[in-house]
Amino acid sequence: MTGKVLQEIGEFGLINRIRKWTSTSDPALLKGIGDDVAVIEIGEKVWLVTTDLLIEDIHFELTWTDPFHLGRKALFVNLSDIAAMGGIPKYFLISLGVPKNLSLSFLSSFYRGLKDGARRFGVDLIGGDTSVSKKIIINICLLGEGKRGSVLFRSGARVGDDLFVSGYLGDAAFGLKILQKGRLGGRLKGLIKKHLSPSPRIQLGQVLARNHWATAMIDVSDGLLIDTNHLLEESGVGARIWEDRIPLSKLYQKWIHSFSKFPYRFALSGGEDYELLFTAPPEMRRRILHVALSLKIPITQIGRIVPKKEGLHLIRKDGKEYSPSRLGFEHFKR
Ligand code: ADP
Ligand code: MG
Repeated sequence: MTGKVLQEIGEFGLINRIRKWTSTSDPALLKGIGDDVAVIEIGEKVWLVTTDLLIEDIHFELTWTDPFHLGRKALFVNLSDIAAMGGIPKYFLISLGVPKNLSLSFLSSFYRGLKDGARRFGVDLIGGDTSVSKKIIINICLLGEGKRGSVLFRSGARVGDDLFVSGYLGDAAFGLKILQKGRLGGRLKGLIKKHLSPSPRIQLGQVLARNHWATAMIDVSDGLLIDTNHLLEESGVGARIWEDRIPLSKLYQKWIHSFSKFPYRFALSGGEDYELLFTAPPEMRRRILHVALSLKIPITQIGRIVPKKEGLHLIRKDGKEYSPSRLGFEHFKR
């Protein structure tokens, strides 16, 4: 067979094609492909359905990943997609591909991690599937619940809205880089922890959706720029981001210069932050910053939504604007 290969269109080019190949007109399906979860209407409620795949040596390496945290993270990355809609997570299924010589103690620790995460967020394991495999493959499908009219899609941003992000960006990608360099902790432990043990923003997502404060939301899983771009594309708008407003942790600020000459490198293009990126009209700003204080979650206004024709621009501290040439990580593209 000849013709284009995946590398030329990348992960998101492929998803766009799949979306065209498989469009459906079921009226109960409020959202199919194109958001953090699929949204299915059932009476006054909606079901939220999401799935994520973790593959050994692609998403995690056993050299520095312990099974307990791996189990918990596998669930948490799915919980983050429910958080991005403002939903309530409920049930999940897990499918595993595992090598036949994998120890039972690895598996029991993995399930302990899974159970710990499930208990913390009130979700129940209801099934799955198991197969032999050369490498470990983990797939979770998580179901959540929401109220019709109170779900936050990627597509609701309007020109003039503020752009906010929760937490600090770049720590997880920075932590991964440290692990890849063979360093295992010490003073940089906090960054590594962000990579191995992310925390989904379920409560914040629910508050923003329930009160109708935000207009659009996505979780930052692939990197700030790439996920901002998803939100902009689905909403049909552009954005300006002030670089020096991007929230960086103290550890990040202290150590970034020893690892990269680009201070915003991991914060802009590193993945796995699992923070919430959302838009809201300026009149909601005060309430949003107030809730940040009461939930003890940092929330920062990093930019503003502009018309689509203005695209995505970053503004440097000296006032100069630039359009990023590379947005971040995308499967098949490297
Ligand atoms: P997220 O980073 O929030 O998990 P993704 O970028 O993985 O989202 O996916 C974006 C959208 O594309 C979602 O609606 C997802 O369900 C859909 N999607 C991803 N891969 C496939 C696939 N192989 N077939 C159909 N839909 C897919
Ligand atoms: Mg997502």
